[in-house]
Amino acid sequence: MTKRNSRYDLLFEPVTIGPKITKNRFYQVPHCNGMGHRYPRAMAEMRGVKAEGGWGVVCTEECSIHPTSDLSPATLMRLWDDEDLPVHELMIEKIHRHDALAGIQLVHNGFEVANYVTRQPSLAPSAIPTEWFRHVHARGMDKSDIRDLRKWYVDAAVRSKRAGYDIIYTYAAHGTMTLLYQFLLSRYNHRTDEYGGSLENRVRLLKEILSDMKDAVGDSCAVALRFAVDELLGEDGMQKNEAQDIVGLLAELPDLWDVNVAAWHNDSMPSRFGVEGGQERYIDFVKALTTKPVVGVGRFTSPDTMVSQIKRGVIDLIGAARPSIADPFLPNKIDQGLEDEIRECIGCNMCTSGDFLAHPMRCTQNPTMGEEWRRQWHPVNIAQAGSSDSVLIVGGGPAGLEAAVALSDRGYEVTLSEAGEKLGGRVLRESSLASLSQWQRVADHRSYLLSQRANVQTYTDSTLTTEDILDAGIAHIAIATGASWREDFYGIQHPQSLTVTDPSMITGVDSVLAGVMPSGKVMVYDDDHYYLASAIAEQLARSGVEVVLVTAAADIAEWTHNTLENEHIQIRLRELGVQIVCNKEIKDVEAGKVTLACVYIGKTEVHEVSTVIPLTSRVASNQLYTKLFESQARWADSGIKSVTAIGDCHIPATIAMAVYAGHEYARELDVPESHKGVFRRELGLGGE
Ligand code: ADP
Ligand code: SF4
Repeated sequence: MTKRNSRYDLLFEPVTIGPKITKNRFYQVPHCNGMGHRYPRAMAEMRGVKAEGGWGVVCTEECSIHPTSDLSPATLMRLWDDEDLPVHELMIEKIHRHDALAGIQLVHNGFEVANYVTRQPSLAPSAIPTEWFRHVHARGMDKSDIRDLRKWYVDAAVRSKRAGYDIIYTYAAHGTMTLLYQFLLSRYNHRTDEYGGSLENRVRLLKEILSDMKDAVGDSCAVALRFAVDELLGEDGMQKNEAQDIVGLLAELPDLWDVNVAAWHNDSMPSRFGVEGGQERYIDFVKALTTKPVVGVGRFTSPDTMVSQIKRGVIDLIGAARPSIADPFLPNKIDQGLEDEIRECIGCNMCTSGDFLAHPMRCTQNPTMGEEWRRQWHPVNIAQAGSSDSVLIVGGGPAGLEAAVALSDRGYEVTLSEAGEKLGGRVLRESSLASLSQWQRVADHRSYLLSQRANVQTYTDSTLTTEDILDAGIAHIAIATGASWREDFYGIQHPQSLTVTDPSMITGVDSVLAGVMPSGKVMVYDDDHYYLASAIAEQLARSGVEVVLVTAAADIAEWTHNTLENEHIQIRLRELGVQIVCNKEIKDVEAGKVTLACVYIGKTEVHEVSTVIPLTSRVASNQLYTKLFESQARWADSGIKSVTAIGDCHIPATIAMAVYAGHEYARELDVPESHKGVFRRELGLGGE
């Protein structure tokens, strides 16, 4: 095993956090995962795997301390009473097994939640509608509510200590998400008593709770504070000057400062809108105001950036949520001198959609994320090959690349054939758009690994036909030939192809991604509702083209609310002067003009444009797959035992799903049919 580069030694130094010592500086900060109390075994195993991968501290997601903070329908942690303890103990044991510290992020969400399951009134510093469910109001807290809150925090801290946690947080970050932050913000805290008004008064409750927790558990547990130093709202929100005063007021009280920016979409900044280490300029003042260790995040995947931030005194601990999701073994890889093998987060935020949609999170880069317990998929270990058969993979997009990597890990002889000049498929095409450039990491990581493997032959500029495959003499064939964008507007809004008057007005998405950049005024029509239409509109606008973005939905890029991209997209497209038209469908495309109709009442309007780019749906490129089945009678003579379609060529979907499909194919090769697609269910633990 190679040893780590000495310039990264700093990352492996122990750090004292109150009464605890972490073995290194790799700190998995709290992050949601869509598993929580409903999928506790999956959650516990996922956290345990991170500890195994070298993270010195592994924290929970936010953990509600009381039924008045019921985050339903989201799936997060709870510590309302002793009944919740087994879920926590299960996870802590898995973290401790690998000498990591276990942290818990205790929270009351105040007016963020509407308590749909518990039916308790929500609480707030002052009476206000709840954040996400505005028709339900929260009650302004009186003094007895404040006493109760302090007690709930102490009770939860004591329970956390009993469960075995090493680091116990209180949470005042992510903007309106936490009650203690709501108290800090004068726009929500209108109180006239000693908990409102001056900054000292607004900080009082946080200070009391931190002191209460220190008194209750500080002898043996570290008490941490997560605090957002800037909401990026300018004078309307928290910003540096006030944050400096708050850090000054509380400086030595917490054993650890975990600092970031708010709101969540700024903290988990998508790579389209922010760079690695991008929070430095907001948080860099904190260390000067406290002697306590400081942890910060910034989608850190480069060990050089990590070392630089520590050496320059920005932070003491490398906080990571997404990098630890994309590669749970990131610390161990650096430790073993394998930093070139780090599977770097691409900043797509597919992972955050698990929280919004209340399902176990998935990661574009890491197909084993969330499947560690459910399918017993370990991110590093994989079963040896079930036979000495060879495998031919046709298509080097995310599905084909991931299948090749995982199959080679299993020890199979693999041939990968790609028609294009380079590996990457759709990732290569889409990352040619400037704002998606980091997504190329999906291809780069896998291409690099394949280049290191003796049991993989990779061919580019190599279009395979049915006859080529029948002649190859290879036992297992995976067809990963992708999908192409339709140009006939067929999709959810137009469930029949649309016959337009002038088809020459239309430029397909695949042409645009191949480098055809239309000029004049361009209409981008989006019935896909994810990121691509906005990325194309952005690219065109940046190159000086006048763009109108039309969607049948009420909002552009609707699904990107789940990936924290939407607000950034809205701002960027408006700043670039893109005209936005919602609730409209295409009626006809004629020379120089497009007729749109209102999706509700059919009222039409005409837009003069020179080109239309339709993003409505895709069609699987499965001709090769179909032809091979037509030749099934010849398989035995050709030595073919199986032909399988994977990824977009099976069903056009997300990149995450293509990677998952490639991985699943590799895991399940030479496995009995009855064992395929099987997952363990969460029964008997957790629940509401
Ligand atoms: P997925 O997301 O499922 O991986 P992609 O569209 O990203 O799908 O990738 C499919 C890849 O397959 C593309 O790079 C394409 O060039 C390649 N391909 C398609 N047909 C063939 C073929 N007959 N032989 C080799 N490669 C092919
Ligand atoms: Fe990173 Fe995307 Fe994976 Fe989230 S889903 S960890 S943003 S690669």
